[in-house]
Amino acid sequence: MKDKISKIKEEAMEEIKDLNNMEDLEELRIKFLGKKGELTKVLRGMGKLSNKERPVIGQMANEVRQDIEKEINNTKESLKKEIQKKKLEKERIDISIPGKNIVLGHRHPLVKTIEELENIFMNMGFSVVYGPEVETVENNFDELNSPENHPSRDLTDTFYITEDILLRTHTSPVQIRVMKENKPPLRIVSAGRTFRFDDVDDTHSPMFHQLEGLVVDENVTMANLKETIDTFIKELFGEDMHTRFRPHYFPFTEPSAEVDVSCFNCKGKGCEECNGTGWSMELLGCGMVNPKVLQNCGIDPDKYSGFAFGLGIDRIAMVKYGIDNIRLLFENDMRFLEQF
Ligand SMILES: [Zn+2]
Repeated sequence: MKDKISKIKEEAMEEIKDLNNMEDLEELRIKFLGKKGELTKVLRGMGKLSNKERPVIGQMANEVRQDIEKEINNTKESLKKEIQKKKLEKERIDISIPGKNIVLGHRHPLVKTIEELENIFMNMGFSVVYGPEVETVENNFDELNSPENHPSRDLTDTFYITEDILLRTHTSPVQIRVMKENKPPLRIVSAGRTFRFDDVDDTHSPMFHQLEGLVVDENVTMANLKETIDTFIKELFGEDMHTRFRPHYFPFTEPSAEVDVSCFNCKGKGCEECNGTGWSMELLGCGMVNPKVLQNCGIDPDKYSGFAFGLGIDRIAMVKYGIDNIRLLFENDMRFLEQF
């Protein structure tokens, strides 16, 4: 019997060596130590042993059982470690591989221009405000004193969403919003997208950008307007630039003017680009806020006066960056944008 037990131990130890997974290990445990296992089978024959032999064999069997269990557990542990190691190996990150290059972009020339304009006006004491691109007909036309038959109200000129809602045709409705919601003194600029039913060519696009300015306070005069525009143009384009105000008509200002600035090419001497006049035409529109507009917004025109101005940002960006086609600003062609 002793031999049998020793043989069981030998066999078990030998088999364990060759195992490399948990399932086989468990199978082996059942085979040798289970209720129907080899060792149990042998022990069943203990009844036939003498009283002297029984405790000796019993002890031996116990020791063998413990030895086998210990070996199984040890193997289990090292198998676990093996599996863990393999898993780590599989999930290893090679930190020596070069990282993926993240391409850092930069601001669009239009955004840069907007930021530059806003900065100039902030330095002059203006606040920057924003308004929605989808506007009411009331804010976009009615409150701005735009006559019922004004051509820009026409379906062929404006993108209507419903009869009363449209894509704003200028940034001027922001003035209305500011005046309705705030009491003077007011000093704001607002830049953003505007929309008109324009065919696309080198200088026109159905989407374009405007910057609007508004000042309302006591004793605001045309002199303040001229000084503000003049200072702005010099800040933007240089000290040697001059402005010229030509009378014009806008429904929301009275009197109104269009502003020309010195030719960007010849700085006023006269060249081919400016047809010898020395001026770049119609850079911005401006005027004293029409008293009717103040009244529409609940501001007393006897106590307060104001001026407003609007300019096309796209044109300024084109002048500043030497871009000759407005389409380039909106096509998102990387070859173009990377130049700025
Ligand atoms: Zn010129």
